[in-house]
Amino acid sequence: MTDKLENLRSEIRAWLTDHAPGDWRTRADTHEKFAAEQREWFGKLVGAGYAIPHWPEQWPGGGRSLAEQKVIYEELARADAPRLLLSFVSTYHAFATLHECGSAEQQARYLPEILKGETWCQGFSEPNAGSDLAAIKTKAVRKGDVYIVDGQKVWSTMAQYADKCLLLTRTSSEGPKQAGMTYLLMDMKAPGVTVRPIHQIQGDEEFAEIFLDGVEIPVSQRVGDEGDGWAVAQATLASERGLTLMELSYRLRGNMYRLAETVQKCGRVDDAGILRDLGRLVTQIDAVCALSDQFLQKRIDGTEVIGDASIVKNAYSHCLRAWADLGVRVGGITAQYREPITFGDLNSGNWMADFMNSYAWTIAGGSEEVQRNIIAERMLGMPREPKGWAL
Ligand SMILES: Cc1cc2nc3c(=O)[nH]c(=O)nc-3n(C[C@H](O)[C@H](O)[C@H](O)COP(=O)(O)OP(=O)(O)OC[C@H]3O[C@@H](n4cnc5c(N)ncnc54)[C@H](O)[C@@H]3O)c2cc1C
Repeated sequence: MTDKLENLRSEIRAWLTDHAPGDWRTRADTHEKFAAEQREWFGKLVGAGYAIPHWPEQWPGGGRSLAEQKVIYEELARADAPRLLLSFVSTYHAFATLHECGSAEQQARYLPEILKGETWCQGFSEPNAGSDLAAIKTKAVRKGDVYIVDGQKVWSTMAQYADKCLLLTRTSSEGPKQAGMTYLLMDMKAPGVTVRPIHQIQGDEEFAEIFLDGVEIPVSQRVGDEGDGWAVAQATLASERGLTLMELSYRLRGNMYRLAETVQKCGRVDDAGILRDLGRLVTQIDAVCALSDQFLQKRIDGTEVIGDASIVKNAYSHCLRAWADLGVRVGGITAQYREPITFGDLNSGNWMADFMNSYAWTIAGGSEEVQRNIIAERMLGMPREPKGWAL
């Protein structure tokens, strides 16, 4: 490790010792309080320059090398600092979309607001359009300088707290489904927007439905040209399948300490089977970190190929499940008890909650099966799936 990285590690470790909110899991007992705490923590990280290491260097705390980013994520995990669930879509998805496809005016207007705490949600999925995203029906009709939007979105993470939305709409039903899509930036307070949180079976309210009834969105809030929505959406999805996974992978590696602690606390240090599984998991997580490094390097070098991001995503989601599964097994009966509210984090402090939530990443951002199709058909050129399945 170079001196520069060692200095960064000491610097962030010292800062986290003073500022990481150690009691964050117990302090908030409602979703609203949790959201308020998330906003406060985000503000502190922005102030210290640790919130957006993946943004370019003109932004405060941006322009960090891959090695520096890893150090930051490892130290955040080591300090057991909360993940930025509320600003995840803003700092990754919205940033990647605006950075790659937004106009200079849109970047200047929206990116500084993100750093001031404005939060975004992603409005892609619909009741009959998830894996088959090109089947979306939310309609946008241009009238002069605005689009009038009608339709419904679902599974929109934290939409009930969002200020803005990355909205995928249909402007034409002519020709191939992908060609008629248009990407808009929507104000969540605009007249005609109704948000209804989805109460999940395990107690969380991580997602919401968004109902759109004659919502007016100025044409200046369109990203790319009319009909280019599919291409712009790929920038959002690529961020979800690639960029975000670096943080998650390194955080997961950092969180192995919690598993090791559980093994010790539960008196399983002499259990050869548990130690074998722990060792295997350490190796697998190291491999995922290496895969995510390789993927981001390819992206920087411009050598990324279709399927690269899908490989990292599937490898990560399997490790996450193995990690939570081992936690539940080792933790015994105490690990089965689950607090009523855990806010859908992947590191809630409760193994049963983490186990349930560990399945999320096999679906979010495109399901595991769909990623396998991408790898098989579009990366390896294997025969297409039988007719009847939509892609
Ligand atoms: C934690 C989480 C967060 C999310 N956040 C958001 C968000 O913020 N915004 C948003 O817009 N959406 C979000 N989603 C929704 C997510 O994008 C969809 O759930 C996902 O694309 C799958 O779509 P679906 O739920 O409609 O399932 P379906 O598409 O109905 O799939 C059902 C099952 O069929 C399988 N399947 C479907 N098609 C194929 C095929 N061609 N080949 C093989 N198997 C297939 C799938 O793998 C799955 O097992 C989120 C989901 C999760 C779990």
